[in-house]
Formats: sequence, structure tokens, C-alpha cells
Amino acid sequence: MVSRTLLVLSLVLGAFSVLQAQPSSSPGQRPALRVLVVTGGCCHDYPFQTQQLQLAVNAVADVTWTVVNEGGKGTRAEIPLYDQPNWARAYDVVVHNECFADTHDPAYLQKIVSGHEKGGTPAVVVHCAMHSYRASTSDAWRAFLGVTSRRHDHQSNYTVRRVVDGHPALRGFPAEWVTPKDELYIVEKLWPSAKALAVAKSEKDGLDHATIWVNDHQGTRVFGTTFGHGNVTWEDPVFLKLIASGLLWASGRN
Ligand SMILES: [Zn+2]
Repeated sequence: MVSRTLLVLSLVLGAFSVLQAQPSSSPGQRPALRVLVVTGGCCHDYPFQTQQLQLAVNAVADVTWTVVNEGGKGTRAEIPLYDQPNWARAYDVVVHNECFADTHDPAYLQKIVSGHEKGGTPAVVVHCAMHSYRASTSDAWRAFLGVTSRRHDHQSNYTVRRVVDGHPALRGFPAEWVTPKDELYIVEKLWPSAKALAVAKSEKDGLDHATIWVNDHQGTRVFGTTFGHGNVTWEDPVFLKLIASGLLWASGRN
């Protein structure tokens, strides 16, 4: 009886060890992408933009989403998220779609960018992220973005021209794309670590401005676009595909 019990026990344990040895996912299957969206502040419909972002990326990747919409609807806020040490560490990529132009404390900005430095988390930066913290004397945020912009031209249907071929962040992006009514951000400076992928011409001064770019911020990937003002842009399939491709590239999945 005892030996029979031992036999059954060993069979059960054997089966258990076989189960334990099985991989938890099939070969080649990647774990879900962990995406943090930081959004909120002035001037835009962030719940809708976030919903559209999620739809676009969910079409190309398995994603675990965390959305932090803090700081109200004004132009100045210091949100609790960035008070957490290593606030970005638990994520594969952070989408910055916040809009706080008048927040300017350099120490606060350093808390934000530190999440992306020294082996930190890659980022996607969208539209008003480029005008966030523009009141600050610190260049820390602008160096992280890869562009300096403090103002924008009027809303129009801008023709966006791809200036780089074959970049994975532009997968599926046409040679030219006419935007829905959107703002053209005037780029004063493209930082040396950044590379423009597409440009659009100002209807006022005739100059080309980077509207889609990538930045190597101290070894961390950053993908950016200055478009994304209105809901019409966030309903445009070319824009949504662009955001998804850029996010995959930034996170190393593309
Ligand atoms: Zn805007």
C-alpha cells in the first residue's frame, strides 16, 4: 500500500515537474508591452486622444496600459506621478501627451527626464508635450525631446513630406501626407542627437519644420511628432498608424 502511494505521489510530482518545465507562452511569443500614458493639462481632448492611441496600438501589439491623467486642464501643474522614484521603470515605453506650458521648475523637469536617462525608459512625445515646460530656463526637457519649439502657426491642412526612407518608425507612412486641420509647430532647434524623419512647410515663412523625428537621448530612444491637436487628427488613419509604428520603434519592438 505504501509503495503504491509512493508510486502515485511520484507520478503526480513527475507530472507537476513536466508542467513546470513547459514555457508559459509559445515560442516566439512576446510578453505584453507595458505602456504608460502621461496626459492632461490645457487645450486638448485627452480622454479621446488616449482612447484613439489605445485603439491604434492595440491593433499591432499586445499591450498592458497604464494611463495617468493628472494636473487638471490648466497650463501649470506638477503632477504626483513624477514624485515617485523610478516612476518610469516599470514600463517599456512612456507616451508623453501632457500640456503644461507654464510649469518651469528645473528640479521638477529633472525628475521627469531622469526616468528616461541612464538606461531609462524610451518615450513617445506628442504635440503639446513639445510646448510643455517651455517657460523653464532649463533645457533638460527640450534636450530629451530633441526639438525646441515655443510657438505654432495657424491651423491648416499641412503637407508632410517624408525625408528619410526605410525608418521603422515610418512603416506604412506615405511619401506625402496632408494632415487634417492641425497646428504647425515652429521648431527653433533640432538638437544634434535628433534626426528629422518628415517635415512640413510653414505657410507664413516658407521654412520647413521637423514634424516627425527620432531622438537618441543619452542612448534612450525617443519618437516625436508635433501633430495631434484636434480630434480630427486622432481619427486620421495615417496619423494613428504613425503613432503606433513610432511607439513600436521606440520600445524596440519594430
Ligand atoms: Zn494643440
